[in-house]
Amino acid sequence: MSGETKFSVMCSLFNWIQKSKSSTKKRSKFRKFLDTYCKPTDYFAAVRLILPNLDRERGSYGLKESVLATCIIDALGMSRESVDAVRLINWRKGGAKTGVNVGNFSLVASEVLQRRQGMISGGLTIKELNDLLDRLASSENRAEKTSVLSDLIKKTNAQEMKWIVMIILKDLKLGISEKSIFHEFHPDAEDLFNVTCDLKLVCERLRDRRQRHKRQDIEVGKAVRPQLALRVANAASAWKKLHGKEVVIECKFDGDRIQIHKNGHEIHFFSRNFLDHTEYIHGMSNFIKQNVLVDRCILDGEMLVWDTSNDRFADFGSNQEIGFPYALLHVAFDILYVGDSSVIHQSLKERHELLKKVVKPVKGSLEILVPDGGLNVHTTAGEPCWSRIAYNVDDVETFFKRTIENRDEGIVLKDLESKWEPSDRSGKWLKLKPDYVRAGSDLDVLIIGGYYGSGRRGGQVAQFLMGLAERPAPNTYPRRFVSFCRVGTGLSDEELDAVVNKLKPYFRKYEYPKKGPPTYYKVTNNSKERPDVWIDSPEKSIILSITSDIRTIRSEVFAAPYSLRFPRIDKVRDDKPWHECLDVESFVELVHSSNHT
Ligand code: ATP
Repeated sequence: MSGETKFSVMCSLFNWIQKSKSSTKKRSKFRKFLDTYCKPTDYFAAVRLILPNLDRERGSYGLKESVLATCIIDALGMSRESVDAVRLINWRKGGAKTGVNVGNFSLVASEVLQRRQGMISGGLTIKELNDLLDRLASSENRAEKTSVLSDLIKKTNAQEMKWIVMIILKDLKLGISEKSIFHEFHPDAEDLFNVTCDLKLVCERLRDRRQRHKRQDIEVGKAVRPQLALRVANAASAWKKLHGKEVVIECKFDGDRIQIHKNGHEIHFFSRNFLDHTEYIHGMSNFIKQNVLVDRCILDGEMLVWDTSNDRFADFGSNQEIGFPYALLHVAFDILYVGDSSVIHQSLKERHELLKKVVKPVKGSLEILVPDGGLNVHTTAGEPCWSRIAYNVDDVETFFKRTIENRDEGIVLKDLESKWEPSDRSGKWLKLKPDYVRAGSDLDVLIIGGYYGSGRRGGQVAQFLMGLAERPAPNTYPRRFVSFCRVGTGLSDEELDAVVNKLKPYFRKYEYPKKGPPTYYKVTNNSKERPDVWIDSPEKSIILSITSDIRTIRSEVFAAPYSLRFPRIDKVRDDKPWHECLDVESFVELVHSSNHT
């Protein structure tokens, strides 16, 4: 009978796996659980709890840590001002009394729950838990979610609830890979999942764990896990890896990997995490129906945004609000299925030929990427080519340099003889990207000025002038900031709006040349990067984490000795006060040390 496996048994399993150091031990615990404690009819119910991020049967919970925190506080009937409530809300930073678990939401939650829940298991079965999680996902507002959480709290102890919180956040931190889970479950599980992206189907079809399954090919309408690219350090090592092969080099577009499945009038847009992006139907379906010349097919490519008024790619983030002049553009770089058969076993060269036959390109809407052809749009450098055959390492080097100048993400090299393999990252495709200084907490710099945008963001601040601090005397705050770089990309429109709105009261128009810059900012006289507004007091400003191409440039435009090539905003550091801005000396040290490695 289904539904008998108790959740408490799974919690013990989770604890064991987490505690075990070696992956062999972790795997054997899971195998024992399947062999001994889990009924075959419960396989799906159990596996979806251990691999929650692969489960597409249940919709999204709409619960990130911050909302989950308030729901738990309400479900426990706590005052929002109580010490524990503040601890939950501030789980990332810790409250007045900083606990050891700061930064780990489920541990902070379990600390809080432990004081309110008993030790005795509520006896919940995994079937009952899944039913409650279904209710949680389908409940429409916070009150309903809170009531489901309160039910869950009643039926569990703190230990069980900790794991439930992790299931809801879709990360169990068990230190066992998805691959190992699949392998212990069934030798064919991983392959079957890769071509169906359907956990339920895998658990049900492979319920007899000793019976081998016939290898399955891809199907139209079922997402397939994409062929991936292996990262290489430079053009020479890429060339060495593909030695003797016929190689195509392509621009690495910076959008979203989307598989288009066309089955007559039914069209799906599957992303890498196999969600069907129905929001693309409106902007794309007609182009696909009219210009994909077969009834059934799967195209593999990148979804991008095309700026129709300037005839160029727009930042992908702007696709949240597609509308004139922005339009969706799918660049198909591969084809996986044509008519009634899969073509992934054919060579890439053959698939390029098929792509040319099957897709009639439409400028700025549906393009194909094939060597020395396709893609009717020009690079910034004015060259019409985004893909070409490489004959030697210099070809690779030149192509890479050009994409960098063009500010593209990098390049992808592909073996033209290779077949397309789901989820493979063995090196048939290689990617070469400029190295970025991973900002982390290192390149946290302060906004000191702003630039008005154009077009959509006309009349509003859309880019920032960033400053490094002049190193202050010990135990004092910095008093002066040195102009450092100009940055505009990286944030979503919402994030940018939030920063601009917070700073608006402190914008002071730069009335050049009538008035000089504020004395607490050091800038050069160079007119190139003169901001439109200054932040009139650094103490009110905001820190941003900046990432960049590792090659810093000696700067005459900015007051700091070096600036960044192609800087991007990585995140807004609301949690960092203005005075923790990186200082010039530390930055220079960082530049020198990265140049030595
Ligand atoms: P990254 O963060 O570098 O994009 P990733 O892990 O998302 O890495 P990889 O498999 O390493 O993905 O790199 C391939 C990704 O690059 C694809 O998933 C796709 O989204 C993107 N891409 C852009 N242009 C191309 C192209 N011409 N051919 C293949 N992939 C491309």
